[in-house]
Amino acid sequence: MVAAQAPTPLQQPHWVHRNEPLLAQLGVSLDDPQLLTVLAGSAAPPPLKPFATVYSGHQFGHWAGQLGDGRALGLGELPYRDTASGSEQWLEVQLKGAGPTPYSRFADGRAVLRSSIREYLCSEAMHGLGIATTRALTLVASATPVQRERSERAAVVCRAARSFLRFGHFEHYHYSGQPERVAALADYLIERHFPQWLMLSEHQRHLNLFSHIVAATATTIAAWQAVGFAHGVLNTDNMSLLGDTLDYGPFGFLDRYQSGLICNHSDSSGRYAFDRQPMIGLWNLNALANAFLSLLPSEALVEQLGSYQQQFEQAYRDNMRAKLGLPTTASDTQVDSLVGEFLRLLESSGADYSRSMRALAWLGSNDEPQLATEIGASWTTSQWQQWRSDYSELVGSSALRSATRRRAMNAVNAKYILRNYLAEQAIEAAEAGDYQQVERLFKVLQHPYDEQPEHHRLAAVPPAWAESISVSCSS
Ligand code: AMP
Ligand code: MG
Repeated sequence: MVAAQAPTPLQQPHWVHRNEPLLAQLGVSLDDPQLLTVLAGSAAPPPLKPFATVYSGHQFGHWAGQLGDGRALGLGELPYRDTASGSEQWLEVQLKGAGPTPYSRFADGRAVLRSSIREYLCSEAMHGLGIATTRALTLVASATPVQRERSERAAVVCRAARSFLRFGHFEHYHYSGQPERVAALADYLIERHFPQWLMLSEHQRHLNLFSHIVAATATTIAAWQAVGFAHGVLNTDNMSLLGDTLDYGPFGFLDRYQSGLICNHSDSSGRYAFDRQPMIGLWNLNALANAFLSLLPSEALVEQLGSYQQQFEQAYRDNMRAKLGLPTTASDTQVDSLVGEFLRLLESSGADYSRSMRALAWLGSNDEPQLATEIGASWTTSQWQQWRSDYSELVGSSALRSATRRRAMNAVNAKYILRNYLAEQAIEAAEAGDYQQVERLFKVLQHPYDEQPEHHRLAAVPPAWAESISVSCSS
């Protein structure tokens, strides 16, 4: 179900940031006099027909009924030329925080500047890292007050994605007894995103769709685990049907390696802890499988679900093989055991995840002390030295000295990630009216694998106070 819904204007809207490269790719001119009016949600002149869609979902493991779109308004789609494939593709454009919708329940339909900056920066940071995600197009702040734990200012993010459809859209129709709409939604997705399946039988199309969602979910979560990203609130309504990272709220990147990091302050049971994400992906797919029961026999769904673990493990192993610079000749067992021991030692050493991964490229070179500094005093222990020796043996001495290998590792081990404390500093400045840090982070995070020596402070070990930052769903 889609409801027409006009946005509710903000007081004194103004730009915080514009993603100029993406706007240009979508053919949107910065000189368009209506740009701010439209993207702040002040007006939606024809031919725009803003709309909100309805979805439900499971939150923290429980059926929560109808949830949204409580504060998202679709504006339409724009074509662009994909630079990698050269083909024409479409991105849906959506305002987040543009006022109440018929599905807002009792909430205000707004988003605060703080959470909007986090979503805006993180979605582009993920894109820069090469992880499937929604994108950020523009960010508008305002003078409109919004009451949360304290009074804050309302903001609107304009975001773009191949699709904003979620597991929860299917769940909504399934649990409200509308199998014909479950089928219509599946047909829509296939027509729009997988036209190559249109000549297949209906059963095969639906099977391909479910199987694709399983694979895309496994791939994206494997990428999160490899980069050290915790989503924080992996409810089924925050799961994209195309496997894109969606709805950035109480997320966090690992600073020191902490396998059980719970970045969402409201997640008291740790359901969405970092190391539980792969399993939660499967839990959510299982919920989606239930919503597919009118389309496919349960045996077929169970078989697809059964392939998830192996697909996740393979994708994660491929990521880690590249990040550790391990040769293709290393067996899966060798990779798994070296990675497992590396993470165990990192955790007990209290070392920073991203910095240690990046410093691994120095192992075996004259710059190895940089790695030792990263790991800290425990680098000299027999356990680390045993690991070092196993690693060196697997990589081989000539490869260890190879600059090509080092370059390849740097291309997959980010120097710059959106650490919570960096976002926090940019938010504090922005709340005081200074948007320069948002601009700087945005620029740097677009190229997270490049050295960018002039910005090296943004890649520093986080300050002690970073540990005490807590983010919750309140947004
Ligand atoms: P979340 O846990 O942030 O994904 O929120 C769950 C759902 O609640 C979202 O999908 C929104 O549709 C809705 N929601 C969250 N915040 C608001 C708000 N301020 N106004 C209206 N709806 C909201
Ligand atoms: Mg959400």
